[in-house]
Amino acid sequence: MIPKEKINSILEGYDKKKIKIATICSHSSMQIFHGARQEGIKTVGICLEKNKKLYDAFPYGRPDEYIIVKDYKNLPVKELVDQNAVIVPHGSVVEYAGKALQEAAVPLFGNRMSLVWEGDRDMLFKWMKDAGLNVPRTFTPDKIDRPCIVKLPGAKGGRGYVVVNSPEEFRKKVKAEKVTIQEYVLGVRVYPHYFFSPISKGGYGVHEGSLELMSMDRRLESDIDDAQRATAAGIKFDPSFTVVGNLPLVIRESLLSKVMEMGQGVVESAFRLFKGIPGPFCIETICTKDMEFYAFEISGRIVAGTNLYPEGSQYTAYTYKEPMSTGRRIALEIKNAAKLNKLSSVIY
Ligand code: AMP
Repeated sequence: MIPKEKINSILEGYDKKKIKIATICSHSSMQIFHGARQEGIKTVGICLEKNKKLYDAFPYGRPDEYIIVKDYKNLPVKELVDQNAVIVPHGSVVEYAGKALQEAAVPLFGNRMSLVWEGDRDMLFKWMKDAGLNVPRTFTPDKIDRPCIVKLPGAKGGRGYVVVNSPEEFRKKVKAEKVTIQEYVLGVRVYPHYFFSPISKGGYGVHEGSLELMSMDRRLESDIDDAQRATAAGIKFDPSFTVVGNLPLVIRESLLSKVMEMGQGVVESAFRLFKGIPGPFCIETICTKDMEFYAFEISGRIVAGTNLYPEGSQYTAYTYKEPMSTGRRIALEIKNAAKLNKLSSVIY
């Protein structure tokens, strides 16, 4: 892992009035570029030649400039630093750049340690437990005595997950080694999107900063989420959980205090475990009929569900006078931190 001091010294060399926001053209990049544009920050898109046409078709979602690359494994670190750019890591940055991200000598918005903690299932569980979240029970294959969801190692977006009810069914259906077997939690999936600002005061105070609820979503997964159609058509099938898209969501107002307490727990635990989590994050939860939230994942960065709200959400309407997306909130934080000379508090 590149030392924080090294990133701080790169930041020292930046012209604070001309910082640019850069990211890979994928995942939530249009929202990030759009939000930066609203805050008057220039943007750089790291893009494959074949995808440029797509982004150019969205004049308010495209980046101001492109760096065309052959693949995303090797980020154009030197060019980005020369351009005064801060990378905003999203799901595709994490997936494509992988471990190289840990060593990349370019400033990243947020704390890059949160990406390490979200990317390793054992560390993730430690974080969720330390945060005081309820987590689903995990099982070894021979102890399966209820519906369980089996997650493949490193799988993203639910791809290849299966549901099993017994050790026999597990042996029949699962060939991969090193899987995670989790109790299948029944309920409504709720994915709250948070933003923690260590440099803001007021609002929902946490650890000398402020925790904001940006929005929420629910994912649409193929083919479990249209299962009633298949069932009505008389088709029997094994459900799969491949994330295809997102739907907007608001929850009962009386549940909001629990949502904020979960977010607070995650932020406080991040300070205990790896010096904090400035910026956006998401807790992936299921709310049961007893109104208990079970968390099965934390994403320590912007999630694609925030793409539903480029002009703000049902929750940011109560915090901001202007439409505030998570992408825009990131740009605002960079602007505020630059003004207060606190960029190193929100960038690693
Ligand atoms: P994940 O890759 O952990 O985000 O999971 C992908 C999808 O699988 C989720 O969006 C849920 O629909 C489903 N899922 C994951 N874990 C559980 C669980 N413990 N119980 C029920 N459904 C789950």
